[in-house]
Amino acid sequence: MAAELMDGRAVAARVRQEVADGVAELVAQGGRAPGLATVLVGDDPASDVYVRNKRRACVAVGMVDLHRRLPADATQQQVDDVLDRLAEDREVSAILLQLPLPDHLDADALLDRIPSDKDVDGLTVTNAGRLAHGRPGLRPCTPAGVERLLDEYGVPLAGAKAAVIGRSVLVGRPMAQLLLARDATVTLCHSRTKDLAADTREADVLVVAAGVPGLVGADAIRPGAAVIDVGIYRGESGLHGDVRFSGAREVAGLITPVPGGVGPMTIAMLLANTLQAARLQQHLPLVLP
Ligand code: NAD
Repeated sequence: MAAELMDGRAVAARVRQEVADGVAELVAQGGRAPGLATVLVGDDPASDVYVRNKRRACVAVGMVDLHRRLPADATQQQVDDVLDRLAEDREVSAILLQLPLPDHLDADALLDRIPSDKDVDGLTVTNAGRLAHGRPGLRPCTPAGVERLLDEYGVPLAGAKAAVIGRSVLVGRPMAQLLLARDATVTLCHSRTKDLAADTREADVLVVAAGVPGLVGADAIRPGAAVIDVGIYRGESGLHGDVRFSGAREVAGLITPVPGGVGPMTIAMLLANTLQAARLQQHLPLVLP
């Protein structure tokens, strides 16, 4: 029997509605509307589209768009200055430094300037450390979106065997930490893993974030597993993921499509994180996700 599709668009729409309600409530209680500062350096066309979508989504839920754009030849000092001003600005709840940056800039040094309570991508060392220690904090949007999708589809995590492919700071590592925090037994696979399929075939929950189109086929999936494909690759016939979808669908129990799976969740969780950040700064308890 073909796997059930996990509809990221539908779940993301619910999250966005929750955030819009949360923003309205915050403002009705006399709080400030959350402000999201996206910082884009240079003119990479893909980054341009991503940032435009984030800005639109932020305005659509009643937040304030505080975008900053710098030229491709901006110096480290110029980007530092922009980030420092945003860090101090009370209107700015959340700062998102769009990656990748031009090669001459030191991304880690720039991320270090973002205060942890405005670090809406959960990429600072402080927020990564909080996650690793099981303490509250802002979580990276894509793995947080995957967790929400798994919850929406009732996938049990406590005691489950989970495998994550990819160990990036943005996706794979925090994904493994989030699953561990939910009491899954987690195997973190990467480019040096000896027998990838042997590890992934054990998994009740498989999250694939390698950026290698078609890396995972039906032979690497445990029958009935929940398979989450984070990969995005634009081929001649449209968007594809890291999972060979048609074969995988015959084996898995649940599976995300590409597009329409994880992608919409990332922006929805960015909005949820921005609301969290605004509430943190206004000394209100966390409510979402
Ligand atoms: P990355 O290149 O930083 O990391 C890729 C990871 O995959 C590395 O840790 C590497 O060890 C591992 N890997 C590479 N080849 C492998 C192989 N053959 N076998 C096993 N592991 C292998 O990428 P990233 O930023 O983590 O993104 C991963 C993918 O997810 C990309 O396709 C990216 O476009 C996509 N992505 C999607 C969203 C979304 O919203 N849907 C968000 C972020 C990233």
